[in-house]
Amino acid sequence: MNTSVGNLRTLVLNADMQPLSWAPLSSWTWQQGLVAVLQHRVIQLKTYEDVFVHTSSKAFEVPAVVALKTYRKRKRVAFTRFNVFLRDEFRCQYCGAEMAAKDLTFDHVVPRSAGGVSRWDNIVAACGRDNLRKGSKTPKQAGLRLMRKPFEPTPRQLDSIARRLPVAKDALHQTWLDFLYWDSELTK
Ligand SMILES: [Zn+2]
Repeated sequence: MNTSVGNLRTLVLNADMQPLSWAPLSSWTWQQGLVAVLQHRVIQLKTYEDVFVHTSSKAFEVPAVVALKTYRKRKRVAFTRFNVFLRDEFRCQYCGAEMAAKDLTFDHVVPRSAGGVSRWDNIVAACGRDNLRKGSKTPKQAGLRLMRKPFEPTPRQLDSIARRLPVAKDALHQTWLDFLYWDSELTK
């Protein structure tokens, strides 16, 4: 086996040639990618240059980018900690400060003590200071103002946010770039 193949991953596109998801960017291990290609489950769009894996009798190219043959309908966005922070672009929704996930907290806009539920439309990212200040009050009672009303994002909305974040860029392999749509912010 070629030693350089190690951690290579295969970018997985939907049948419309867009990534299945941007957050995280949809990819498989190269092994999963190769198996899917050999089983004709996906279309191989690009292979890694000069990378081969060998069996006793054959050498295989390693898929860099594949596409599904049939369009996979996007599911609703999972209500997870990461996705809430992503929707809110890692900004406190009261003061607007941008911070690392570890420094952000969740805030129930309508406090739990007043019947507020844990749902997309009642949870926002908040810095520790504002969360403390708000406590179990409503924003108005605490003298705080939401930057915008929380909402359930569509997969597409979350994708467009993820594409703009530097964390998305770090996960990219150079070989994939031709197959990803870049907005001007990223190409600069
Ligand atoms: Zn804040």
